[in-house]
Amino acid sequence: MKKQFAVIGLGRFGGSIVKELNELGMEVLAIDVNEEKVNEYASVATHAVMADTTDENTLRSLGIRNFDHVIVAIGDNIQSSILTTLMLVEIGVDHITVKAQNDYHEKVLSKIGAHKVVHPERDMGIRIAHNLVSKNVLDYLELSDEFSIVEIEAGARVDGYTLIDLDLRAKYGCNIMAVKRGEDINVSPAAEDVLKHGDVLIVIGADRDITRMEQDLFDDDSD
Ligand code: ATP
Repeated sequence: MKKQFAVIGLGRFGGSIVKELNELGMEVLAIDVNEEKVNEYASVATHAVMADTTDENTLRSLGIRNFDHVIVAIGDNIQSSILTTLMLVEIGVDHITVKAQNDYHEKVLSKIGAHKVVHPERDMGIRIAHNLVSKNVLDYLELSDEFSIVEIEAGARVDGYTLIDLDLRAKYGCNIMAVKRGEDINVSPAAEDVLKHGDVLIVIGADRDITRMEQDLFDDDSD
């Protein structure tokens, strides 16, 4: 059976989630207090309704409990975002993802029981900063304040070197979890595996160490 999603708040963030879920063939209920927004998404979402989600009865009458995943994408109105989340937790929705506007908002949302809190502007800023430091960094996933996983493209500097040659664990405290070469993924690569220009390395480590490693070995711009 298709997964059922509800997206509350049809700003740029919520709206793009609705569009993408629809593209992926999912059932999406789009909800906003603003009629214009609802009309804008009427043809994109499976259903679009105008409702104020801070009202528990309204949420119950929409059958929100039956949705597999509810995304709260109300940003600016922090009070509405918190109240809506609280109602969803009390109603017992299985998966609740909420967009946070700032760190305090994020803290409150986690405390009241949101299952996942996302902070798209901050996360995208971090990713872009890493990509600015080295254009070889393709993607970046923050694990904690200190540790991350990055996808780095191997440039000319490491072409033909084995993992022993590079000695990333001893020199930078970083571990290569996998190497992607085209469609192939080599999980837990061996020390004697040779890297090729264009390989994508999935590396785990402390932010500071990853940055040092990026600059020493993967920032081909600075050659
Ligand atoms: P984005 O940064 O994603 O573009 P935005 O700044 O355009 O967001 P926000 O103010 O964050 O918009 O709110 C997103 C949407 O949430 C708006 O369309 C707004 O009408 C809707 N919204 C706000 N409060 C409620 C509520 N209580 N119930 C339902 N929808 C709401």
